[in-house]
Amino acid sequence: MYLDYAASTPMDPEVVNEMMFHLKGTFGNASSLHSYGQTAHQILEQSRENVALFLNAKPNEIYFTSSGTESDNLAIKGVVFKQKRTGGHIITSKIEHHAVFHTCQYLEKLGFDVTYLDVDKYGVVDLNELEDAITDETMLISIMFANNEIGTIEPIKEIGKIAKNHDIIFHTDAVQAFGKLPIFVGEMNIDLLSASAHKVYGPKGVGLLYIREKGEKLGSKKYVEPILHGGGHERGLRSSTENIPGIAGFSKAVELCRQNMSKEAKKLTGFRDHIIKEITENIEDVYLNGHPTQRLPNNVNLGFRYIEGESIVLSLNEEGIAVSTGSACSSKSLQPSHVLLSIGQKPEEAHGSLRITTGRFTTEDDIEYFLEKIPPVITRLREMSPLKKGRNYMFNKKNLKPQFH
Ligand SMILES: *Cc1c(COP(=O)(O)O)cnc(C)c1O
Repeated sequence: MYLDYAASTPMDPEVVNEMMFHLKGTFGNASSLHSYGQTAHQILEQSRENVALFLNAKPNEIYFTSSGTESDNLAIKGVVFKQKRTGGHIITSKIEHHAVFHTCQYLEKLGFDVTYLDVDKYGVVDLNELEDAITDETMLISIMFANNEIGTIEPIKEIGKIAKNHDIIFHTDAVQAFGKLPIFVGEMNIDLLSASAHKVYGPKGVGLLYIREKGEKLGSKKYVEPILHGGGHERGLRSSTENIPGIAGFSKAVELCRQNMSKEAKKLTGFRDHIIKEITENIEDVYLNGHPTQRLPNNVNLGFRYIEGESIVLSLNEEGIAVSTGSACSSKSLQPSHVLLSIGQKPEEAHGSLRITTGRFTTEDDIEYFLEKIPPVITRLREMSPLKKGRNYMFNKKNLKPQFH
């Protein structure tokens, strides 16, 4: 039973069908002049229109990429490299996905100045702190739409307003929000937005970057420098022969999201609140991570005291249940999550977190099975735990392994 939709989603069968059709038939290079090329080009442009419609954007504001990670890199590096080689200022938050976080750290090494905004105990950025962080050198604000670990939704519209008032470019990593929450790039003053197909029942290795046409002032797309140079695909911004089956699959996935989004959000919010209520009422020493209401419909993140999230994941795996400790990227390392540390948790608390994320194919039976299996797992792990209540322990800062006295 799969309850790790934030890490990746299974492809919708309709997406698979759509892709199969193009994998078999639409092999032409979209840049070729002959009819094979024209067919591929048509599919590409239809997909662009379809995705643009979903974002309330214009087709020529959509650029296809190879992933959410690439879109984040292109947005951030592209904007700052266009304006300055070194020395400019970027504002982001302490809870970004590694695709944004590590890109900003890399830019610091190149001489850029980065402010990482604090978040409150729910993971929400402080708008006053954002205002205060802005300087004459600020070129870009990059703040995620919704967090992949704790599910918290950021005040995007308010951030967009601040960015606009100060005439600063605003990028948002919307990989988790896209397909789950309504997004209006115009109203929200979003200049750049990243999304990824495999988080919305599409294929892996396909993403998109929305880039607002800025008209007179900054010219069209003239404020982003390409990071891939080559044949000039995607209107010069992202060279590489277009992945037509992948892009058509993404487009189909978006169409299905458009049809199902509000219905699905309702269903998943019901599951989410049911899981939170059942677990916090029936298991001791457990707390919710992230915002109680301003959170993704499909995200539950719980902290269990005295035990480690990894042990819970492995035990539940034995029962046929797939969940996660947090982000897929950090779940194989022993480093506590930077997101949980940023909402004020101690490393030992951060190690006890469990993320349950549901999706289109999750059923009520799945939830009941999970709720039946988890209490004995927690009880058994706590019985074995050296971290149990009353014992003295502390963490060795270097390797974060518990040391006993
Ligand atoms: C998954 C994810 C990414 C990375 O997307 P890929 O397509 O896997 O590279 C970036 N940001 C967030 C918030 C994500 O959840």
